[in-house]
Amino acid sequence: MKTAFIAGRLYTPVEEIQNPLLVVEDGRISEISSRSAREVPANTAVVDFGDAVLAPGFVDIHIHGGAGIDLMRAQPSELPRLGTFLAAHGVTGYFATTVAAPLDATCTTLGRLADAIEAAADSSSTNNGDPAQARPLGIHLEGPFLSHKRRGVHPPENLVLPTVEVFERLWQAARGHVRMLTIAPELPGAMEVIGEAARRKVCVSIGHSDAEMPVAQDAVKAGANHATHTFNAMRPLDHRNPGIIGEVLSNDRLSADIIVDGIHVSPAVVKLFLRAKGRELAVLITDGISATGMPDGRYQLGPIEVDVKDGTCTSGGSLAGSVLTMDRAVRNVTKFSEWSLRDAVRAASLNPARAAGLAAHHGMLAKGDAATFTVLSPVGEVLKTVVRGRGF
Ligand SMILES: [Zn+2]
Repeated sequence: MKTAFIAGRLYTPVEEIQNPLLVVEDGRISEISSRSAREVPANTAVVDFGDAVLAPGFVDIHIHGGAGIDLMRAQPSELPRLGTFLAAHGVTGYFATTVAAPLDATCTTLGRLADAIEAAADSSSTNNGDPAQARPLGIHLEGPFLSHKRRGVHPPENLVLPTVEVFERLWQAARGHVRMLTIAPELPGAMEVIGEAARRKVCVSIGHSDAEMPVAQDAVKAGANHATHTFNAMRPLDHRNPGIIGEVLSNDRLSADIIVDGIHVSPAVVKLFLRAKGRELAVLITDGISATGMPDGRYQLGPIEVDVKDGTCTSGGSLAGSVLTMDRAVRNVTKFSEWSLRDAVRAASLNPARAAGLAAHHGMLAKGDAATFTVLSPVGEVLKTVVRGRGF
C-alpha cells in the first residue's frame, strides 16, 4: 500500500522543497521529490494537504509529562495517552525527564521508563488506524547533580554530589537508556562524571549551575556538549563576570536549549539567544509538566507540588516547568525573532536530535527512513502527525 502526501512545502529541514511529493510505503518514506520533477506514482492513494508544510516530527529532549501524566509516576500503560497528546502537537519523540527525587524512588522510575522505551522501540509500524504516538526515545536525568543555589524547584534534600558510583547506579536502573544528563559543573566530582557520561555517549548538558565561565570551559573540555534551559536556573550573565551563560552563548562547541513560552525568558532575550547560537545550535524544549493540556490547578512534578495559573507553573514562588507545547514554541520563535518557520522547525527537530546524539533519521526527512513527520499550516499549527507510518 502506497500513499502519497502532497503539500505546499517540505522542510527536510536542511533543504526546502516546493510542491513536495512524499511517498510512504510499508511505514517508510520511499520517495521525497518535487511534483514538478515527478508525477504521483500509479496505484497510490493521495493525501492532499494544500498549502501546508511537511516537516520532520519534533523531538523534545526535556519534558516531564503532559495530559495529566507525570513521567516520574506514570505506569507504562499511561504513556500511550501522553504519546497521543504530544503527537497532536507535532512531537514524535521525546526524552522522559526526571526531577531530583530520593534515589530509590528515582531508580524505580528509571526501570519503568526503560520498560516504556523498550516497548515503544518494539512496537510495529503498520498503519492500523490508531492515532500516531510520540515515542519515548530515552531518559534525561535532570538531577540529582544540581547546584543548591540554582536548584529551581528541585527539592534540596534530593540533590546529590556527583560521583561515578551514583551515576552508575542510575545508569543500571535505566538499563543504559540515559541519553542526557543535566549537571552543575562546579560541583566537586562533576568533571569526572561529565567525562564518564560523555564516554557513554550521553549528551552532557550543563545547567542548574552557578558556575563561573572558566568552570564551564573546563566542563566542555571534559565532554559537556549542551546547556539546559539557558538563562533559567543559571548564574545570571554579567558583562564583567560572564559566568556559565557567557560560555554557553559564545562557544560553538555547545548547543543549547531554551524555553520559548514568553514566560521563562523574555522575547527580546530569546532573540539574542537565537542570534548567539544560530540556526544549527539553538534547540527548543518545552520543560512541560503533567498540567500541559489541562485546566489550571494543582499538579504533581515528581515529589514537587506545582500550582498552575494562566499558563504559569510555580512552586513556592519559583517557576516549576511549563505548560508549553512544542508547536507553540515553534510559532513563538517566528513571533519573537526574524527566524522563518523553517528555522524554527529545525530548532525543534534536527537540532535537538543532533545535540542529543540521536541516529541520523531523527529530526530529518529522508528517503528510506521511517515515515515520521508532522504536517503544519503555513503559520505552524499542527494539522496531522504520522509516526512510523501510523496516524493517517
Ligand atoms: Zn530545570
